[in-house]
Amino acid sequence: MRYANLYTRFTALLAAFSLLCAICPPPANAAGKLNIMTATTDLAALAQEIGGDRVDVESVARGYQDPHFVEAKPSFLLKLRHADLLIVVGLELEIGWLPPLISQSTNPKIQVGAPGYFDASRFAKILEIPTGVVTRAEGDVHPLGNPHYWLDPENGLRIAKGIQNKLSEMRPNDAAYFAERYNSFEQRIKQANEKWLAEMKPYAGRKVVTYHRSWPNFAEHFGLNVVGYVEPRPGIPPSPQHTVELIGMMRRDGVKVVLVEPYFDLKTPNAIGRDTGAQVVVLMPSVGGEKEIIDYFKLFDYDIAKLKQAFDTAK
Ligand SMILES: [Zn+2]
Repeated sequence: MRYANLYTRFTALLAAFSLLCAICPPPANAAGKLNIMTATTDLAALAQEIGGDRVDVESVARGYQDPHFVEAKPSFLLKLRHADLLIVVGLELEIGWLPPLISQSTNPKIQVGAPGYFDASRFAKILEIPTGVVTRAEGDVHPLGNPHYWLDPENGLRIAKGIQNKLSEMRPNDAAYFAERYNSFEQRIKQANEKWLAEMKPYAGRKVVTYHRSWPNFAEHFGLNVVGYVEPRPGIPPSPQHTVELIGMMRRDGVKVVLVEPYFDLKTPNAIGRDTGAQVVVLMPSVGGEKEIIDYFKLFDYDIAKLKQAFDTAK
């Protein structure tokens, strides 16, 4: 009898509790914000566009660092340990520094192949995919195709769509919010893209040399013609012989602009500039490369302004 009584009271309590749960809507972030870590700042910027105030986003690499060779601070291990989602560039861009961080984080959610491991390259248009066998033994750091694909706003939009779907899958209750954020981003990027294309139109087909192969997607989208590289191969420092050949080609073809990423020594580009009369311009491949480049839009604003200035000076 006593037990029965206790049981009844317990079930009543349970029922009351369930009722309480049913009638009280959960607080906005009952499940807390999603913790997102990204390999690079550009992916962080895109994740922030879609995730808004429902996510905390941080990038391991800084925008002024060479994304192939990042020295990650040990503090990132702790952050990766608590991440719900890790977004990477992929195509082996981060192979030199990210895999040990992922395994040492011992976070099962973000291990390669787990639902919290998001490879953005699967959503982007990839250029320069090698047809033959490329081994890293030759020093080529782009063995699976060009990993600098975020430098085309259309790829930014494709990646944002992938992120929207992933976040909605992880937080179905916020799916409408993420969809709204994506739609706003799509509208703004399409508008900005019209403006960028118009600004670049007068320079269509201009020949440029770049230090590293960071710009094929950018060049294809904005109509530039990349005719040579300061590096003999991606990831291999300039050699005297290659530089001499490059200078000869630039003189023959009248190439007047050399684009350099902020993390390379300017010695060789400047020497090339002196020998050919070309403008040497430091372009930013990533958000945060300069203080004013606070988001994905400002990245293109900055680079296009720099390019226009270089082409106009080189006339
Ligand atoms: Zn590269």
